[in-house]
Amino acid sequence: MYEGKAKNIYSTDDEQLVIAEYKDQATALNGKKKDQISGKGALNNQITSLIFRELNRHGIETHFVKQISKTEQLNTKVEIIPLEVVVRYYTAGSFSKRFDLAEGIKFKTPLVEFYYKNDALDDPFINDEHVKFLEIATDEEIAILKEKALAVGAVLTELFSQIELKLIDFKLEFGRLPDGRIILADEISPDTSRLWDADNNHVDKDIYRRDLGDIIPIYQRVLDDLQTKFEGK
Ligand code: 5GP
Repeated sequence: MYEGKAKNIYSTDDEQLVIAEYKDQATALNGKKKDQISGKGALNNQITSLIFRELNRHGIETHFVKQISKTEQLNTKVEIIPLEVVVRYYTAGSFSKRFDLAEGIKFKTPLVEFYYKNDALDDPFINDEHVKFLEIATDEEIAILKEKALAVGAVLTELFSQIELKLIDFKLEFGRLPDGRIILADEISPDTSRLWDADNNHVDKDIYRRDLGDIIPIYQRVLDDLQTKFEGK
C-alpha cells in the first residue's frame, strides 16, 4: 500500500487491518544521508511493539494490534494525519539549532510542536493557524492531538526512567479511524525519540545522525532492558 523510508505498509484480507514491516534502512537529513543497517528494522519493530503494548495497557488508544514477526506488526488501518507531533522536555536538536541554545536545558512545562509531513518541503515547522488553514485538523482536533501527545509523553517518561534513560524529546504521528476518531499510530523507538543515559550519552538515532558510532548495540540494549523490566525476560 505504501513504501516509507523506514517501513512498508501492506494490506491484509481484513479491510480494517494492515501489516507494518520495519526496514533496515536508516535515513537522516530528509533522506540525504542513507544507509542499510542490518538488524535495525527488527529492533525498532520489537521496541515499538513493547512500548505500544504498554501504552494500550495505560488506556491510550493506539493502532497497535500485535507483533507478528521480528520485523512485522499488525496495525489497525488509519488515515495518517500529515503532522509530526513533537513533544520536548529538554532543549535539543532542531530547537537548540533554531534558538542557538545548548542541549539539555529543561523546559518549565513540556512543549508540543507541529511539523508538516511533506518531504518536498523538508517537513516545515507549522503553527495551529497553519494547521487549520491547510485543513489538516480542526481546532478541536488540534486540542486532542496536544492532549494525547502529552498523555503519551507522561507514560514514556516513566517507562524510560525505569531503564535509567531520560526522555529528551520525541515525535508522534496520529491517524483517523473511519468514524473520525483520532488514535496514536506509527512508531516509537530510539529512531523517533531522544534518550540520554545518566552521563548524558545519546542512546538514540543521534548516534547515526551525528556519526557517533554503531546504533545496533545501543538499540539492542534499549530492547533488552525494556524486555527485562516489562516482560520479565
Ligand atoms: P528535532 O526537531 O529536534 O529534529 O526532533 C525532535 C524529535 O522528534 C527527536 O526525538 C527526533 O528523533 C524526532 N523527529 C522529528 N522529525 C523526525 C523525522 O522525520 N524522523 C524521525 N525518525 N524522527 C523525527
